[in-house]
Amino acid sequence: MTIIDPKDLSNLYFGANKKTNAGEETAEFFVHPSIAIQSGTESTTPSDHHGTNIVHGRGMVATNDIAAGECIFITPPTVGMDCHAMESKFKSGTNVALEDLAMEELIDKMMKDINSKQDGDTKVNACINSFLCLMGSTKDTKKKVTIQMLNGKDDTDHWSAEELKDLSRKDMKTILLKNAFGPDFIMYDRIQAQWSSNLSYTPPNILGVFPLAAMINHSCTPNAVRTFSNSCMVAHACQTIPAGKEIMWSYIPPTQVMADRRRALKKRHGFLCKCERCMIEAKELRKDLLPTNLKQALEEANKWNEGMLDMSQISDETSKRQLCAAAIHLEETIFSSKSLSNEVKRHVRVGYTNLHINYFNTMLTTAANRKQPQQQQNVQDLVLQSATQLHFAYCSSNNTSTEHLSVLHLCYELASSSKNNNNNAKFWTEAIKRAHLTRYGSLGSNLTSIRNCMVHTRTVLRQRDGYLQVQFNFL
Ligand SMILES: [Zn+2]
Repeated sequence: MTIIDPKDLSNLYFGANKKTNAGEETAEFFVHPSIAIQSGTESTTPSDHHGTNIVHGRGMVATNDIAAGECIFITPPTVGMDCHAMESKFKSGTNVALEDLAMEELIDKMMKDINSKQDGDTKVNACINSFLCLMGSTKDTKKKVTIQMLNGKDDTDHWSAEELKDLSRKDMKTILLKNAFGPDFIMYDRIQAQWSSNLSYTPPNILGVFPLAAMINHSCTPNAVRTFSNSCMVAHACQTIPAGKEIMWSYIPPTQVMADRRRALKKRHGFLCKCERCMIEAKELRKDLLPTNLKQALEEANKWNEGMLDMSQISDETSKRQLCAAAIHLEETIFSSKSLSNEVKRHVRVGYTNLHINYFNTMLTTAANRKQPQQQQNVQDLVLQSATQLHFAYCSSNNTSTEHLSVLHLCYELASSSKNNNNNAKFWTEAIKRAHLTRYGSLGSNLTSIRNCMVHTRTVLRQRDGYLQVQFNFL
């Protein structure tokens, strides 16, 4: 087993020997010494006077201050699917949807471990311990969960043959639905489309159980961020996490408006989010109290905020005009409003990420067709202004999200090509570097790796399916 040095992750992301398989001896681990698992943590949201407090079953807390950019852990799945094996299995012919196929395969693996368990089989024991402790409060309370156990390193005989006998595929499915991690940013149907057209394409992760990661609870303003590289999960702090504070990340893309976030969380994870961001948005943007002009601006903006990365519906001139008008209207009402707090404005701005990206793209393609260089320059300056605001909003609300990195690249390009903002290129270079090193961790002093990392995120949101056009090892 190799322990990766979190001070230089370039090898993990870009190294030659990248293949890692679940449970194999080559598996890589790192765990920050200042994290602990706590059970029954009660988190009271400050602005919530009438709702019930969120009671997390278990959570991960910082036992000492953790600075933004510090690596929290690196772990392969204790049970997971190898992407290449999955690709050949899928291509060999099946009528089953990829997501279901991956789920069934993973359940097979778990059941095989359970059924083959012999006393003293340390490897199987440790694996079973890692995923069975995720089973839910009624069945697993007698086992105290440790980081060792979660990482598949505790081979103590916790489960008797009698107890294991009763476990079914249904139990495994329950564990997976709540705790497994899929490909995250890329959707299954996109992967499936690639494979169905016989294109070779390796997503950073297909489906895996990362029990340590499964301890982290949700917040729409996360202080941690995860990435995948060759089926390994890498977690970094994206904000400073003071000692005693819970480490949280987002289960869904947090760059959506509150209604969409809450809907997605309810559907996929079965809870109503009452994180700090949701509570302040719910309070300040209450429909029955909001002035009509603000309410209208939000509703208008909603129309252009749906459909991640999808510009195809905004091809005609009328739509383009309406989209730009909605973005400008939002700026003139919501973001200039005296009655809303700056905090809620930042959250709202981040929530309308799709609208912003579509607005920037529309403005810039239109500007490219202008004959007058001065006109082009004016449009670029306008976009840079708006993108700068968006950057600052990300810093406090969703620091180093994929969208944040993409917007930073845009700002850098606009600033460095601008005649008016030449001095700002340096500011954006620093901001890009800092954000990448926070999200992906330290890449050592290897400049090529750092450049590779940046090339990787550059095109993500600038064009439709941009992320499929970059050769990627991680997201
Ligand atoms: Zn929330």
